[in-house]
Amino acid sequence: MTSPAPSKARPIRKPAKQPWCALVGAGPGDPELLTLKALRTLRRATVLLVDDLVSDAIVTLALRGRRRPPRVVHVGKRGGCKSTPQAFIERLMVNEALAGERVVRLKGGDPFVFERGGEEAEALRAQGIDVEVVNGITSGLAATTALGVPWTHRDHAHGVMLVTGHAREGAPGPDWAVLGAAAAQGLTLVIYMGMARLAAVQAGLLRALPGHTPAAVVQHAGSPQERTCDCTLASLVDAVRACGLGSPAIVIIGKVLQARSALAAAERLAA
Ligand code: SAH
Repeated sequence: MTSPAPSKARPIRKPAKQPWCALVGAGPGDPELLTLKALRTLRRATVLLVDDLVSDAIVTLALRGRRRPPRVVHVGKRGGCKSTPQAFIERLMVNEALAGERVVRLKGGDPFVFERGGEEAEALRAQGIDVEVVNGITSGLAATTALGVPWTHRDHAHGVMLVTGHAREGAPGPDWAVLGAAAAQGLTLVIYMGMARLAAVQAGLLRALPGHTPAAVVQHAGSPQERTCDCTLASLVDAVRACGLGSPAIVIIGKVLQARSALAAAERLAA
């Protein structure tokens, strides 16, 4: 009996690497507020696209001890340059990922809170690229924590609204009077990108809320440069000017800020 002809050895083909990209939240600034998953993902990057609001300390952490550090591309307004156009960033991510690079896009706060994370994920997936999203602590949360109050202290608030003060070009901005009415119902209003339009925000909210409604502004929340300003809705614009606060900052409006004095009093008693 003749033995069967040996089957032809099939060449071992390495599966083509599935292109991959991650959108990672850097949190508000303090490297200790980075998640373990964010750090692990950052350290896998071969190309790192860094947003404006990401602190240098976090980039340093991502590079520390790497034998082959990733290529770092700053895509923001740093150094007085104009912001990198969104279409360019998306093209860069797609091209690098398709070329086999492990692309990590590092964004301030959370990548899906007032970022173009959704659009970027769509653009990448449309090209067959796997997209991983790693949440970060959003600056609005860090800002209220900086003030020592929760978003939803149950004595004062039963919900929270995250709103942008910056309308998309050509689109109508939020109706501040409607949002003010919701805040009057016990929803904490957390406003991102509101500093440039603070007077309009204040005027709109005053149509629905009393002037004595507690307000606060936190600049550089969750970072060593953090600064806060307490006021009322009626004094918001003047107080911000007097405190000398600017962007990036979060504006918080709502009764939940009353919890601040109660919590401070409790702390004094405990001391
Ligand atoms: N994805 C980010 C928000 C980006 S929109 C997040 O989740 O935090 C940009 C706006 O976020 C800024 O205009 C400012 O309103 C706010 N912001 C970002 N970082 C901040 C910080 N450290 N302190 C206060 N506001 C911040």
